[in-house]
Amino acid sequence: MRQIRRAAVIGSGVMGASIAAHLANAGIPSLLLDLVPNSLTEAQAKKGLTLLDPLVRNSLAIDALARLKKANPAPFYDPLFANRITPGNLEDDLHKIADVDWVIEVIVESLEPKQSLLARIEEHWHPGIIVSSNTSGISINEMVQGLDSEFRRHFLGTHFFNPPRYMKLLEVIPGDDTDPDIVEFMTKFCERRLGKGVVRAKDTPNFVANRIGTYGLLVTLQEMMAGGFTVEEVDAVTGPAIGRPKSATFRTLDLVGIDTFVHVANNVLEKTRDEAEKTVFRAPSMVVDMVQRGWIGEKAGQGFYRKQRVDGKSVIDSLNLRAMEYGPQVKFTAPSLEAAKAARGAKAKIRALLGADDKYARLARSITARTLIYAAEKVGEIADSPRDIDDAMKWGFNWDLGPFEIWDALGLVRTIADMESAGMVVPAWVKDWVAAGHTSFYERRDVHTLVAVPELGGALGGAAGAAETAGAAKAAETAPPAGNPGAAPAAETAPPAGDPSATGSSGALVSWRRVDEAPEIVSLAALKEQGRVVARNSGSSLVDLGDGVACLEFHSPNNAIGEDILVMIQQSMPLIRKDFEGLVVANQGRNFCVGANLMILLMEAQNEEWEEVDDIIRMFQHTMLALKRFEKPVVAAPHRMTLGGGVEVCLAADRILPAAETYFGLVEVGVGLIPGGGGCKELAYRLAKSQPSPDSDLQPGLNHIFETVGMAKVSTSGHDAIRMGLMAPTDRVVMNQDFAIHEAKAEVLRLAEQGYAPPTEERFRVAGSDGKAVLTMGAYDMFLGGYISNHDLLIARKLAHVLAGGDVPAGTMVTEEYMLDLEREAFLSLVGEPKTQARMQHMLAKGKPLRN
Ligand code: NAD
Repeated sequence: MRQIRRAAVIGSGVMGASIAAHLANAGIPSLLLDLVPNSLTEAQAKKGLTLLDPLVRNSLAIDALARLKKANPAPFYDPLFANRITPGNLEDDLHKIADVDWVIEVIVESLEPKQSLLARIEEHWHPGIIVSSNTSGISINEMVQGLDSEFRRHFLGTHFFNPPRYMKLLEVIPGDDTDPDIVEFMTKFCERRLGKGVVRAKDTPNFVANRIGTYGLLVTLQEMMAGGFTVEEVDAVTGPAIGRPKSATFRTLDLVGIDTFVHVANNVLEKTRDEAEKTVFRAPSMVVDMVQRGWIGEKAGQGFYRKQRVDGKSVIDSLNLRAMEYGPQVKFTAPSLEAAKAARGAKAKIRALLGADDKYARLARSITARTLIYAAEKVGEIADSPRDIDDAMKWGFNWDLGPFEIWDALGLVRTIADMESAGMVVPAWVKDWVAAGHTSFYERRDVHTLVAVPELGGALGGAAGAAETAGAAKAAETAPPAGNPGAAPAAETAPPAGDPSATGSSGALVSWRRVDEAPEIVSLAALKEQGRVVARNSGSSLVDLGDGVACLEFHSPNNAIGEDILVMIQQSMPLIRKDFEGLVVANQGRNFCVGANLMILLMEAQNEEWEEVDDIIRMFQHTMLALKRFEKPVVAAPHRMTLGGGVEVCLAADRILPAAETYFGLVEVGVGLIPGGGGCKELAYRLAKSQPSPDSDLQPGLNHIFETVGMAKVSTSGHDAIRMGLMAPTDRVVMNQDFAIHEAKAEVLRLAEQGYAPPTEERFRVAGSDGKAVLTMGAYDMFLGGYISNHDLLIARKLAHVLAGGDVPAGTMVTEEYMLDLEREAFLSLVGEPKTQARMQHMLAKGKPLRN
């Protein structure tokens, strides 16, 4: 059984250090090694250190670790995980790699230093240790040329994207000699343990995402120059309007570094033999000019944009590429851009923009068409299937849709006709696919999503341009002949019964392949399409996950909790009681839940409908308590933003399985309220239940929860939520959100199997008026110090009253219902406050808290 218990990361620069941090996140300790400096810094000399001192010899890795601790966004899930990294150096510590299971090379992007480092690694290596490179585009095969064949069997590319904690993509690149078992093992390990989205790439220049991404950027520059567009015009077209990040084209380039961009483009330019590809990958003269001037982006303070402080304000100018001068950005709009803005969802936006008829629509059409055609040409050469390319672009470049998904959204058949009438050449396999009667690259059928896959080798070789680059030419030589299951595993490519594979005019074979082959990846959308909906209303659904477990899914706007979701929770319980073993509460929206529906609450408050407000809160509390006491197990699997009411739903579950990226917090004070759906009660209950003895002091724990709720603290990760005490130590983080529903379902079944018994109705101890006095004094000090406003102080007093259990003697035993009454009274009195209503209004209008 292979296992990765310890790792060594070599190179402690931008990527090496943050990869070590992410390994630490996954619970894997690592050695972080770098070069030994050959001179002392001024500070080291002042301290009297010498070049022999370990503090000096390890200083590159030590400094990197110090930078990690301060970095923003945080590379660690929990700052304490930094202790899992041991800094060292390549001269004194390289032998220690003999004790690790994985060595990852992350040094400078240049073939020779990588080759000589790998040769040194080989001296200390023994079979079993996996070695990989984080190269962005250097050939994996060339790196280990001349090294022992057994070593080569253990070597592959593992290409993380920056920053490794946050970017989902990891390209796994097998070399010609890599042991397929190791490729399989690392794929699973990186998915499950590191939480990454793995795309299997071929050993070709820049692999998958950077190959297509760089092409897209270069084509954009060409079209920009041809059409005389400005920097800000291009960014308006190539950002959210076509389902891409706000950084669009030029902010992305400034962030990456224009020198790095040229370097990456040159990597393809030098290797490709295709003249058409060369003309795109040759960096335009204006970009080369910018590099020569040192205008290389953010790291130089200027690139396509220049940020300056003028009269104490930050001003961002854009570069006029004709004059090579910076000037104020020009605001503009156009019908096509307005149409895209008004459309909801990436598919609709792209259709709206490209379907319009102005110069911006034409620009978007040309860039998109060229990128789609290029992506289709590269299937087979850089990755096996369109799906790999789509995933790479979504996970590595944050596109909302991959090229083939965009193509489907635009209408495959119609787009081909448009492309051809514009004189573009559409790859043969795509035309064959359509000629065989297909109208999309993806199709949902039964339980599965299928994707079109041109088969490798044989007929397709020429059509997809597989022999166009040096790396691919080599791959083609060793590629198994067409029809060999090694090239396209028979089980995966076998079309479902009754589905004719396409054999088109050029002889290329295209067939369907199942996308969701991993049973651990549950798609609620697919289950719903199959009619597995047990109950549904406007805001939520109960979906049958199979094996006796159902999933309660929120799908209201922003997944905010309103009456519909509460009703569905209530209606689900009798259904679960009758037909299921237990319940998962999870969804696959952008965020798990942004809180309760403030709009309704605010409207009722402004109309002074206090009974209505009281009913809403009672219903929330009653539903949460019923869920908590429900006789079958309930497991919540939150992800990303899980705030306010979303947290209260999770607190009512028996277990929480947060995704690693979960930002979890009771943030009600931000809108002038306190948690009113059982959140305060549950924290006080958990505090009392976690005490080591019946008379231990509740105050320290009470102070902690008061501070957590009173300051609306939000966890920076799932681990952090456990550390903060918002989740229990028995709750467990799921590294890869894609597996969360499967894991939660397994947890429900485990609890059911173990003879689940719900929490009983027990009284619990509260700190009472003594505890409340301590909390209130603390808040008053903050007020006197000018840290909080009068209204903050009012909220803090109410919060102290509720968390301490009201004006009762210390140690009083109370019921949950009593605590809920306190919570509701405090909540109602705050909703009536004009300043609270102003906070709610501000949050609804601006999306951020108002301090008043
Ligand atoms: P970097 O310049 O920040 O760090 C490189 C590190 O390697 C430095 O700490 C340096 O001291 C060390 N080093 C240099 N030469 C060495 C040698 N001969 N032997 C041992 N150590 C040496 O670079 P980076 O951005 O971290 O990139 C490292 C690797 O990761 C490169 O292959 C790069 O292409 C790849 N990569 C970078 C990014 C990114 O966004 N920066 C993203 C993905 C992949």
